[in-house]
Amino acid sequence: MFKKILIANRGEIACRVAQTARRLGVMTVAVYSDADARAQHVRACDEAVHIGGNAAKDSYLQWQRILDAAQATGAQAIHPGYGFLSENEDFARACAAAGLVFIGPPPEAIAAMGSKAAAKSLMERAGVPLVPGYHGANNEPAFLQGEAERIGFPVLIKASAGGGGRGMRRVDRAEDFAAALASCQREAKASFGDDHVLVERYVTRPRHVEIQVFGDTQGNCVYLFERDCSVQRRHQKVLEEAPAPGMSAARRAEMGAAAVAAAKAVGYVGAGTVEFIAEPTADGDLRFYFMEMNTRLQVEHPVTEAITGHDLVEWQLRVACGEPLPAGQDELKIHGHAIEARICAENPDGGFLPATGSLDVMRWPAHVSFQRNADAERFHDPAAVRVDAGVREGDAISPYYDSMIAKLIVWGADRAQALARLDAALRDTHIVGLSTNVAFLRRVVNGRAFSTADLDTALIERERDALFNTGALPLEQAAAGVAAHTLAAEAALEGADPWSRRDGWRIFGGARRRIELQVGKARHIAFLERLHDGALRLTVGEQGWRFTAKSLGEGRHDVLLGEQRLTLTVYAQGEKVAVFGAAGTLELQEIDPIAHAGEGAAEGGRLTAPMPGKVIAFLAAAGDVVTSGQPLAVMEAMKMEHTLAAPRDGTVAELLYAVGDQVPEGAELLKLAAQE
Ligand code: ADP
Ligand code: ADP
Ligand code: MG
Repeated sequence: MFKKILIANRGEIACRVAQTARRLGVMTVAVYSDADARAQHVRACDEAVHIGGNAAKDSYLQWQRILDAAQATGAQAIHPGYGFLSENEDFARACAAAGLVFIGPPPEAIAAMGSKAAAKSLMERAGVPLVPGYHGANNEPAFLQGEAERIGFPVLIKASAGGGGRGMRRVDRAEDFAAALASCQREAKASFGDDHVLVERYVTRPRHVEIQVFGDTQGNCVYLFERDCSVQRRHQKVLEEAPAPGMSAARRAEMGAAAVAAAKAVGYVGAGTVEFIAEPTADGDLRFYFMEMNTRLQVEHPVTEAITGHDLVEWQLRVACGEPLPAGQDELKIHGHAIEARICAENPDGGFLPATGSLDVMRWPAHVSFQRNADAERFHDPAAVRVDAGVREGDAISPYYDSMIAKLIVWGADRAQALARLDAALRDTHIVGLSTNVAFLRRVVNGRAFSTADLDTALIERERDALFNTGALPLEQAAAGVAAHTLAAEAALEGADPWSRRDGWRIFGGARRRIELQVGKARHIAFLERLHDGALRLTVGEQGWRFTAKSLGEGRHDVLLGEQRLTLTVYAQGEKVAVFGAAGTLELQEIDPIAHAGEGAAEGGRLTAPMPGKVIAFLAAAGDVVTSGQPLAVMEAMKMEHTLAAPRDGTVAELLYAVGDQVPEGAELLKLAAQE
């Protein structure tokens, strides 16, 4: 085994690799950017080397500095994680040239699968079925338009070098093709440095089913079954599970064999994933088409670990040392069912716009660490919840990297048990300080389609009415949480001067207390009063309930609201309050009336940057008359393009930035004058 390895990544994957290395007695070296100086992955490793500035291109993509760091620290091998340099054949070659082991496939295998178009040609020759489309060299717009018409709409334009859901455009009508192609190529050029695209039929209501494969240097290659990753937003995975519901043993063996054949065709070594798109056929079966091969470990590898009991990072390290695969095909078995949820800093109700900010509160459900989860016992572990995180409470999610905060992985004896555990685990995941998808994930998990395994990649879109702008904790429960929290805080201050209490409470004395809450833009008034029998009554708007509360410590309260018994967890920081209950979450402000006296009308109608990023296009010029909702500018932030629309009707008076400028959050991008 290696004595020391360098981990050329950050966040949860770097922490996760470090854990396995530690278990195997392998020393680890972290690399970090300016922003990551205090990051969790730096603490998780034995040594750390600073490699540059915040942007990935100034640090995590700086291979020479990474190679120098490996040599300076005496590391023998480099684990690339995923993203960054993991699928960069030149980096893999540079490692070898520097006498370092690249923990991944040979550069030739990365190259063969690196272009989606070239990989498709290769698979076509190997007889693997492909989605009908065009993946040749001709990229003339008029020619591709012709191909799209031949294939039939809807079509999908994909960047050959693309990945992570970027560089893809669905086109439904011939007249939209040219604009979508230009936008796709622009994104491809900017993100991957290569604007070559392919066009294929857009499969409607498909499932995403992928096979985990593993090869060693002795020529062995096995598959570790499948994962269903159909639940996606923006072509990016949200929930992943193994095994795939409804997969027959015969179909599994057939797909496994196809995936192993694909891997062998390129002399594959290490962990890889062959992705298929599965289309339901008229006779109720599924037809599989090869989509792409990812020549690295995947984000969702933990579900495979949970059902097989094997640590895939350990396999990677052993194979990279020249050892044979730890298990043969006949020794691999599926135990139970596992589901992973990607916890991201984003706003599901706002088009999944990534969010930045500080993780003021980050509490996880009771869980086991990876090490304990990786031993055979874990199949009987009643907790069976694993959290892979690369951040701690108090850390920030910056605009420089991915918006993924952590992954929650649950295991159950069957899918129903795994689902129940995932719901409970999400219920007990409390993050305050920035928007996350936790509540949204809970709605997906409990929604009809996911809970009945009616899976396809349009699931989120199809269930949108039940998934968006809904499901928050009811206002009266949130008010009950605030009241319970305030009473508990007062009880803790027992004996303190009552006149030092908050103004809203003092005004109404001990008998009737007014609580003013703001949710979004709406203000609500609640009253807490003492009844003749000494009990409390909580009134919100027109309705009232008998109310009792008992503090359970750490912000948790046992509350009786009328007939309802609730456990509510409250985190308060200044006026900001977040209340978590079984029914959902509500973030609100508890208004201090003094602090808000004389506040004017909110400023509005300005076009501002929702997050720090780069201006990549203006879609209007000075003098243009624009209408509310019209796209005015395109920004790139957190590796995605965001189109910003006019907040109201008006005339563009002046562009305040130039294309290519880096802008801070809240910067006004252009002056919008009222229309004459
Ligand atoms: P998967 O490949 O497992 O289907 P993704 O495509 O979302 O899932 O994950 C791989 C992507 O994750 C990369 O293409 C990259 O955009 C992104 N990524 C890059 N670095 C990291 C990181 N350190 N942690 C998490 N994700 C990363
Ligand atoms: P990435 O490199 O981002 O992983 P993929 O080619 O694997 O790109 O596609 C990502 C997702 O986009 C798939 O999981 C699927 O949901 C969707 N997708 C890809 N190709 C098609 C297609 N031809 N028809 C419909 N959806 C597709
Ligand atoms: Mg893919």
